Amino acid sequence: MASVLAVTNQKGGVGKTTTAVNLSACLAESGQRVLLIDLDPQGNATTGCGVVKRAALPTVYQVLIGRSTVADTRLASDFGFDVLPANRELAGAEIDLIEMELREYRLRDALVDVAGEYDFILLDCPPALNMLTVNGLVAADTVMIPMQCEYYALEGLTDLVATLKKVRANLNRRLEIEGLLRTMFDPRSTLTQQVSRDLEGHFGDKVYRTIIPRNVRLAEAPSYGKPVIAFDRSSKGAQAYLLLAQEILDRRAGKQGVGKKAAPGGGGQP
Ligand code: ATP
Ligand code: MG
Repeated sequence: MASVLAVTNQKGGVGKTTTAVNLSACLAESGQRVLLIDLDPQGNATTGCGVVKRAALPTVYQVLIGRSTVADTRLASDFGFDVLPANRELAGAEIDLIEMELREYRLRDALVDVAGEYDFILLDCPPALNMLTVNGLVAADTVMIPMQCEYYALEGLTDLVATLKKVRANLNRRLEIEGLLRTMFDPRSTLTQQVSRDLEGHFGDKVYRTIIPRNVRLAEAPSYGKPVIAFDRSSKGAQAYLLLAQEILDRRAGKQGVGKKAAPGGGGQP
């Protein structure tokens, strides 16, 4: 039975899509069966893993409004995982869903049929707390929160945690925070170091030990339609996402001492 992990943060540009695409690729490489679902009308996760959105084909939009199934809509990427693509049409789902019954549960219900075929289903959420994100949070078992260690990040986190509590109370009682991921990390910044320490102080073990450094190869890879491990495997960005996948698998296996090897190459402790 798949574990459904929503990569979410209502703040824009914090590395949600970069994390969803690269983690999918790294988990797939370690033998996990992965489905990546693009829940963002920007469609960045779809293009970022080289999936060509042809106009006639259904996307996650048709799945949400009940006109297609996940099995009929998913596409195989070249990187060992499946993708449920999105395009700009998905922006209309917000309005279409208003009229529908149980509109918060559309994605969760659509996933039932394929959950047995995957180990991980990763959801790339849009930068908003809208009905698409709510569908993601209702379908999810856990939430991964990528964030940049800057001053406003902590404020945004308070809002997000409040939203997660509401979803847990009203819509999805099993929802838990899987972890907070420090992204685009620049260890030279004193503020970054401070915010990073505050984060560990507040959230303790929920903060992944693996840190994703700022790395230009991570920003370049999507324009080639490739996850970074297929673009420049030796880059610090690729190494960091490989370590993150391992940390997630180790944590789930209940192992101790996870992430101790994370220091070299910028993928480790600040
Ligand atoms: P949105 O909220 O718009 O969906 P997002 O949270 O999904 O954004 P990304 O699209 O993953 O964020 O990243 C924003 C930008 O930063 C992109 O151009 C991406 O290539 C770049 N980026 C992400 N992570 C890194 C990193 N670790 N180092 C350098 N650039 C990065
Ligand atoms: Mg995104």
